[in-house]
Amino acid sequence: MSVDAVVLAIGRSGELRAGGTDVTARQRIGRVGLPLVDLSEVPGLRGIQWRPDGSARVAAMTTVAEIAADRRLRAAYPALTATAAALATPQLRAAGTIGGNLLQRNRCWYFRNPRFSCFQTGGTGCPARDGLHLYSAVVDLGPCVVPHPSSLAMALLAYEGTRVEVHGRGAIPVAELYGDGADPTRDHLLARGEVLLAIELPAPTPGEGAAYHRAIGRAEAEWPLVEAVARLVLDHPVGLAGAGASEMIIRSAAVAVGGVARTPLRLTEVEDALVGRPASESNLLAAAEPATLRCTPLPQTTYKVALLRDTVVEVLERAVAHACDIREHARRSD
Ligand SMILES: Cc1cc2nc3c(=O)[nH]c(=O)nc-3n(C[C@H](O)[C@H](O)[C@H](O)COP(=O)(O)OP(=O)(O)OC[C@H]3O[C@@H](n4cnc5c(N)ncnc54)[C@H](O)[C@@H]3O)c2cc1C
Ligand code: SF4
Repeated sequence: MSVDAVVLAIGRSGELRAGGTDVTARQRIGRVGLPLVDLSEVPGLRGIQWRPDGSARVAAMTTVAEIAADRRLRAAYPALTATAAALATPQLRAAGTIGGNLLQRNRCWYFRNPRFSCFQTGGTGCPARDGLHLYSAVVDLGPCVVPHPSSLAMALLAYEGTRVEVHGRGAIPVAELYGDGADPTRDHLLARGEVLLAIELPAPTPGEGAAYHRAIGRAEAEWPLVEAVARLVLDHPVGLAGAGASEMIIRSAAVAVGGVARTPLRLTEVEDALVGRPASESNLLAAAEPATLRCTPLPQTTYKVALLRDTVVEVLERAVAHACDIREHARRSD
């Protein structure tokens, strides 16, 4: 079946099935578009291609497990592969695809319960806002308050210039898949019948250290309360080649968080506070603090304000350690 045939088969009401881990769960509660059209036999939607500039193109049906395990991808995009390796469970990573991960529906318990109606199911209100919203947003972007579910979307946002190829539309910035979060009726902005073909990553940054960290209620098989990725490039101060980790200067930084808002967020204020400064513990702590200024908590999500700051600090510390390891490894192999 070609992609054009898939588009015809979905029509105006159907939905695609990639790994099926999200659609199958929604099928049980009658919250899936029909007909359900399988993407698994469509040629050309799997695998990782490399371009002459060293950048990767990851086809939409590539599984999360394949991304986590790919050594070249791990060297080029460590924040992406660390996130892929940590999300959900081994079984879900083996079945779930990157396309399905980016376009999965939210986890709000009202949305997942057919007895309730809300903006996301054609209704006119948000029962979570005035009801139970312990796992909801702490950065309130609009009428719907469920956090964005995709960990990989957050990781890709940290790679400036990442684009997604949409059949019939060409490549668009990954952030355009989600917009500003103000539309309460949907989790992503692809129209019914639009097929995501691939993710185009930018050329890798040499010497990048990166980390992923999540605050979670149990060890696995759960979405995180707050999650974060950080990508850092460190350099030693002028004339101090043997500097320790805390003296190293942060030359570039990219930080993104998930679990806190209707869209994954890039924390440019944290990045600005990091660049040009030594990677000391106190500087990392001070740089994370401005992230809390974005917070507009709901009554039950005030706990996420401190959790956001602490998750960002932890991911920065881990990224500094990784960047130092990378430098040490490069020095030894010279
Ligand atoms: C217990 C548990 C814990 C989890 N924890 C996490 C977590 O921490 N982080 C996280 O990110 N996820 C988590 N997940 C979700 C899981 O990762 C997703 O269900 C999975 O990645 C979806 O991929 P899939 O291929 O199975 O998608 P499917 O279920 O096949 O599809 C999902 C949606 O995407 C659409 N779609 C799929 N491919 C395309 C395409 N190429 N073009 C257009 N539309 C498409 C489908 O129509 C459907 O609407 C968890 C799930 C469970 C059950
Ligand atoms: S509008 Fe959003 S947060 Fe509110 S009940 Fe529906 S899915 Fe949940």
